[in-house]
Amino acid sequence: DLTINKIAAGEVVESPHSVVKELVENAIDAASSAIILEIQEGGKKYIRITDNGVGIKEEYVEAAFMRHSTSKIAHIEDLSRVESLGFRGEALASIAAVAQVEMITRPEGQQHGVLIHINGGKVETIKKVGCPVGTTIIVKNLFFNTPARLKFLKSNNGETMKITEIITRLSLSNPSISFKYINNNNIMFTTPGNNMLSQAILSVFNKETFKNLILLEDHQEGMTLHGYIGQPSFVRGNRNLQIVFINGRYVKNKVISRAIEVAYKEKIMINKYPICILNLKIHPSVLDVNVHPAKIEVKFEDEEKVYHFILKAILKALEKQSI
Ligand code: ADP
Ligand code: MG
Repeated sequence: DLTINKIAAGEVVESPHSVVKELVENAIDAASSAIILEIQEGGKKYIRITDNGVGIKEEYVEAAFMRHSTSKIAHIEDLSRVESLGFRGEALASIAAVAQVEMITRPEGQQHGVLIHINGGKVETIKKVGCPVGTTIIVKNLFFNTPARLKFLKSNNGETMKITEIITRLSLSNPSISFKYINNNNIMFTTPGNNMLSQAILSVFNKETFKNLILLEDHQEGMTLHGYIGQPSFVRGNRNLQIVFINGRYVKNKVISRAIEVAYKEKIMINKYPICILNLKIHPSVLDVNVHPAKIEVKFEDEEKVYHFILKAILKALEKQSI
């Protein structure tokens, strides 16, 4: 039902940046090795994501845009083992309800691709086309049919900033994928996708930022921490560039955030936030991956142990730097 979709869309899709997040995560889930994101006017007018992932089989293309259709979980008990970023099967349906969406997709081994046009939740066109393997999705005129929501969007600059943060985070937490980000016809960055975090960081930020980062490498019984942290003189007013992944996957975790902040506060006595891009490797058996509807949260069996390990590792790295 179109109305239900339009109302429910508000939960998943409240802005151009949430659309970008959902669609880039779909491209990552599709095992892509190269992803292109292009936006115009803060994503309000135009968002395009092109990937070279698994594509969608012809017979499933229309179904992919229906609410609660997901190829990612078969049973509710699968939720605890879910590997992919998205699993609710709501993003495509929600986005298509409140925008003009065009998708072209082809899986390997299928001769032709499929083009589908959906306008405010209504399928306008669906036909066979020639195209490379993978998926391109274009979202035009977001919220064209919900003017109330359009009014509450940030300025183009504000939305662009949010989108830049999201694509930065996703690029850095997936250094094995090549990301290209284009904003208003300007290439903002291209990462090599060669699985080297340092090179992904260099591509995403400028050389100046990279020079202000300290390499961190530490380990302690079954835990390894690797990545980069900002010089104490190089801090920000918000946490948006605190990027932590556990076993290569972007997560939110309060214990780690607290360790980072306590370390900097102890060292430099300020209440600002460093840039950090950190990957914690830890045995999955001591992790409890809690699948929250909107984000991925992780709990540790022994929180104190992880907290002290990270706190010490950061203090050590900052200490070395100040000698
Ligand atoms: P979810 O990601 O929660 O499963 P979505 O609404 O985001 O739900 O997507 C619905 C389905 O469409 C996915 O489960 C997946 O099968 C398919 N899909 C969406 N985007 C892509 C893509 N870029 N490549 C391949 N399949 C895709
Ligand atoms: Mg999804």
